[in-house]
Amino acid sequence: MTKKIRGRLAPSPTGFLHIGNLRTALFGYLTIKSMGGDYILRIEDTDDKRFVPGAIEKLVDVLEWSGIKFDESPLLSGPYAPYVQSERKEIYKKHIDELLQKDGAYHCFCSSERLDKMREEQQANKKPPRYDRQCRNLNPEEVSKKIASGEPFVIRQKMPLDGEVKCFDELRGEITVNAQELDDHVLIKSNGMPTYQFANIVDDHLMEITHVTRGEEWIPSFPKNVLLYTAFGWDVPKFIHLPVVLNKEGGGKLSKRQGDVSVEEFREKGYLSDALINFIVLLGWHPEGDDEILSMEELIKKFDHKKISSSPAVFDVEKLNYFNGYYIRRMDLDKLTEMAMPYLKENVDKTSDTRKKSPDFIKQAVKIEQERLKKLSDIKEYTEFLFLDKLEYPKEMLIWKKQEAGDCKYNLITIRNILEKIASEEWTKENIENKILQYLNDNALKAGDFLWPTRVALTGKQQSPGPFDVAFVLGREESLEKIQIAIDALNVL
Ligand code: GLU
Repeated sequence: MTKKIRGRLAPSPTGFLHIGNLRTALFGYLTIKSMGGDYILRIEDTDDKRFVPGAIEKLVDVLEWSGIKFDESPLLSGPYAPYVQSERKEIYKKHIDELLQKDGAYHCFCSSERLDKMREEQQANKKPPRYDRQCRNLNPEEVSKKIASGEPFVIRQKMPLDGEVKCFDELRGEITVNAQELDDHVLIKSNGMPTYQFANIVDDHLMEITHVTRGEEWIPSFPKNVLLYTAFGWDVPKFIHLPVVLNKEGGGKLSKRQGDVSVEEFREKGYLSDALINFIVLLGWHPEGDDEILSMEELIKKFDHKKISSSPAVFDVEKLNYFNGYYIRRMDLDKLTEMAMPYLKENVDKTSDTRKKSPDFIKQAVKIEQERLKKLSDIKEYTEFLFLDKLEYPKEMLIWKKQEAGDCKYNLITIRNILEKIASEEWTKENIENKILQYLNDNALKAGDFLWPTRVALTGKQQSPGPFDVAFVLGREESLEKIQIAIDALNVL
């Protein structure tokens, strides 16, 4: 019988999800789901210092928002519970005893002073930091005596002293290391808690994980992990080490704990989960063919973990903005308005004009900005002018290129006269546009000389949607009023 495909995300509960961890989560999820398997969440909290209350709920919430759903987790539970490592201490105890019995590990009683001194010397001699194995050959009686007398100890993994260790990464193929390069690293700390290197392997085995997807920063541990599986006599799962994600600026690694690269932050700024996922999946993978726009469903169908690249991926926020803008443009207006509302609320609250508080006005405001939005939070700044009673802008902004102030004023008067002739009932974007363009056309006038000052008079901004859209949304009265204010301002220039 073939084994059920199973993968896991194994984060520490640090309180937020780093964007690089979302990439790990997504690649793990797609690897497993593309093969019809189960994806589970296991919390690795054996490092007490890093625990943050409420972190698991927050983590699950943001992952679900992204579209990553688990089949088993600490919240859902499942047949391999518990899914939180701090609740599995008994399991680790039992397994370390078994490993000691099998001669795969040993007690080490070296004091931290001794270890520090040893490391300093190694550093001074330009040697790699490595435990000198002083306790590796203590006899069993000595060990029992020390334990009985309460001497603190750690338990270390016994690495082979020579020969080669081979391990196989699904993307890189065979990786061979010389056993002499391997440190007898710690499996159980002096407080009795397991390290990542122990708990992770025991759990992956007991939870019947078939595919391990993790960052390539774990490659140095890989041979040691494989040796641990072998020491227990367990099968080694398939390993897929994901390429690092680099910062575009400076090319360094995207830092692990920076709050500004947390998924929560992207969500708050108004990035759409579909756009974020689409962008993230391209950090190390590319679909066949040119179509890069893919939904989670399509990704599950198309993803092939064997095609993940092993070279570094670059995180380019401009590309993310491009994707997000693309997804925003394709959104249904009602849905976009609903999602934009939290960001718009402050503008709506500020105006005393009840017409501008109406759902219809708000929807029109969103509609004329839909094209320009890169993220939902942009909507606040972009639409603010529509809700202000009085616009503040330097009068000089009204003047297009080398225009004379007098000409600019004259042109605004012309526009005002055209608009005045459009009755309230006929105040549509098309009418406004047709009437103005017709006039400019008939008189062979340059559009910029007229449309620029009109747009600035209506928005007070260097950049905004076009004047016809804005005039339509503001309505006849307010548009005429704002143009008049601009005409008056030009009088004093
Ligand atoms: N707890 C590890 C981390 O947060 C998990 C690595 C792995 O997936 O094995 O980096």
